[in-house]
Amino acid sequence: MSDPSVADKILDVEKIRKDFPILSQTVRGKPLIYLDNAATTHKPASVIERVRKFDAEEYGTVRRGAYKLSENATQLYEEARQKVADFMGAEKKGEIVFTSGTTQAINLVAHSFGKRFVREGDEIIISNIEHHANTVPWQVLCEERGAKLKVIPVSDDGELVMEEYEKLLSSKTRIVAVNHVSNALGTINPVKEITAKAHAAGAKVLIDGAQSSAHMKVDVQDIDCDFYTFSGHKMYAPSGIGGVYGKMEVWEELPPYVTGGDMILEVTLEKATYAKPPARFEAGTPPITQVIGLGAAIDYLNEIGMDKISDYENTLLEYGTQLFKGIEGVRIIGNARHKASIISFSINGEHPSDGHPHDVVSWLDRDGIACRGGHHCAQPTMIRYGVPATTRASMAFYNKTEELDALAESIRNGFPCGFVAL
Ligand code: PLP
Repeated sequence: MSDPSVADKILDVEKIRKDFPILSQTVRGKPLIYLDNAATTHKPASVIERVRKFDAEEYGTVRRGAYKLSENATQLYEEARQKVADFMGAEKKGEIVFTSGTTQAINLVAHSFGKRFVREGDEIIISNIEHHANTVPWQVLCEERGAKLKVIPVSDDGELVMEEYEKLLSSKTRIVAVNHVSNALGTINPVKEITAKAHAAGAKVLIDGAQSSAHMKVDVQDIDCDFYTFSGHKMYAPSGIGGVYGKMEVWEELPPYVTGGDMILEVTLEKATYAKPPARFEAGTPPITQVIGLGAAIDYLNEIGMDKISDYENTLLEYGTQLFKGIEGVRIIGNARHKASIISFSINGEHPSDGHPHDVVSWLDRDGIACRGGHHCAQPTMIRYGVPATTRASMAFYNKTEELDALAESIRNGFPCGFVAL
């Protein structure tokens, strides 16, 4: 078992936990143990307070008003865009387009890029371990355009089979869309290599960064991808905000997805001309308060430091992996060499009371433990590993090794009882 004190040397987790008001509550008389961070993360007090202050004292529409409140709100909104650009290593602030999150971001790219560049007989590549948000939009696009969807297979350990990927690439490939981190398995994909190979074949690359943005240092220029998505609610920011980085020269070639106010240069009754990116892709009044909250969340993450966050979460991953491997009947699904702090498992012993993940998570809830049980919006991944669902513990830097001990203990207690749901 790895030494839990290693984690303490990286971060003062007790101090950090005090920043998150929600974590101090009890659930069914037990301290809340929140291990569903891949679904959504909690907000530090600094984000909650920034959002409150903005709404109470500074709120105004953006990009429209020529009065103080609106001018100030516009400035704060654009400052938040700059913070996102710096956080992700973008060259220009305008390369960041705000959306409601990764789902809308991928739909935007699939729609706009597809309309401009994808024709009958073309090919799009995804992998076998994508979230439905990075699967369905490409399926729909292929159906509409008569294009073909190709899928990078995955090894038993949960790693993309790169030799097979290379075989799928050809002059017909228009775009490769893969996640940086798999939400179902935790695999960290070699996105730089994937991008280089796609570019060599003349294809563009979208990286789904929903699970990576808040857990490791991301540098979109180093990866050299054409698009990189993120979701604020998985980055300690409010829900309803996220977005997508895109290279400016790629954005400039794309038509809008949603149309209406604020994305135009000029409108007559006959036609409209479109604004430059990013405005071209941000029709309508945006989620102003949420953008300000996202900026505050990035300030908070920068203060702690992304390198420290990923080092700390790695120790949790190592500790939890060894712990769960020691529980009889527990099978970890996803054992890639490079993983983020996600442990997916099924309880598949010969025991007559084997638990379905839905029963397991109801059992865990009795102990105040919030874990996810289900297919994690990754049904093709579940099919690949021959399970209908898994139980998933996904860690953040406010989790501690003792919480993983409590999870292991609860599993051990539940296993002989068949995880009877309440
Ligand atoms: N991609 C991945 C890898 C995810 O884990 C998720 C959400 O869990 C999404 C996409 C969709 O993100 P959102 O629901 O924020 O749009």
